[in-house]
Amino acid sequence: MMNPIENHKLYSLANQETPTWITVGKTRIGADFTVIAGPCSVENWNQMLETAIAVKEAGANLLRGGVFKPRTSPYDFQGLGMEGLRLLRKAGDDVQLPIVTEVIDPRDIPWVAEFADVLQIGTRNMQNFSLLKEAGKSYRPVLLKRGMHSTISEWLNCAEYILAEGNPNVILCERGIRTFETSTRNTLDLSAIPNVRSLTHLPVIVDPSHATGRRDLIEPMSLAALAAGANGLEIEVHAHPEDALCDGAQSLTPEMFQKLMKKIRKLETWLTTSESCEEELAVY
Ligand code: PEP
Ligand code: MN
Repeated sequence: MMNPIENHKLYSLANQETPTWITVGKTRIGADFTVIAGPCSVENWNQMLETAIAVKEAGANLLRGGVFKPRTSPYDFQGLGMEGLRLLRKAGDDVQLPIVTEVIDPRDIPWVAEFADVLQIGTRNMQNFSLLKEAGKSYRPVLLKRGMHSTISEWLNCAEYILAEGNPNVILCERGIRTFETSTRNTLDLSAIPNVRSLTHLPVIVDPSHATGRRDLIEPMSLAALAAGANGLEIEVHAHPEDALCDGAQSLTPEMFQKLMKKIRKLETWLTTSESCEEELAVY
């Protein structure tokens, strides 16, 4: 239960009852179930284009790709920076999908905003307050991932930093939290979806890729997230995961992604055709 003072905050459902819809390209995030897909990192033109074509054909709504990679080791691939952003933009334009990319330095926000349709703030930077404030000054929507050690309240307060600067377009993304479990990369907190949706009007999406670190778990977790009320998904897909410079083990192949998208759209239809859904659920 939130402190009543939270009711006055901009993110609060008590403060705004109508859900926030964020229009990006042809998609209204918050209204339409939105799937963001693409590689962990932009590596080269062929990889980017091949993956972009595959996710577009499968029915993704936005294309993702990291160009500034916040890697645990400073010796791992750090991303292609501005050159990567140009490749991502061109691939997005070629397949007609808006693009999402992560920013890690407040000084990059103004120029990255000229290329990217959505700015992503990653788990490691959730409480980087100067980054949040700069993102709040941007005219671009911000996808704010949950910190891997953060409570729901801390996460919502980080969204508040962005909203308080005048940017109303914040998308929350549950991406798993750290627990004692070691067989998965993180632990996906599925309960966070209805929990957060009971507190805020902002859209909430789920990233099953970083939550599990395992490609075999992406499909069940994606379907579970949809059933739990998520407004969308962010999924890593790579044309050749075995060659990926980053996060290959959790990246879906184009074939796996296509199969998953069919199931997602089927489940979505079933869940939103309320009559049949309610009738069938009433049987149990
Ligand atoms: C990513 O989406 O590329 C990423 C690094 O995710 P996270 O910040 O959730 O680890
Ligand atoms: Mn990744």
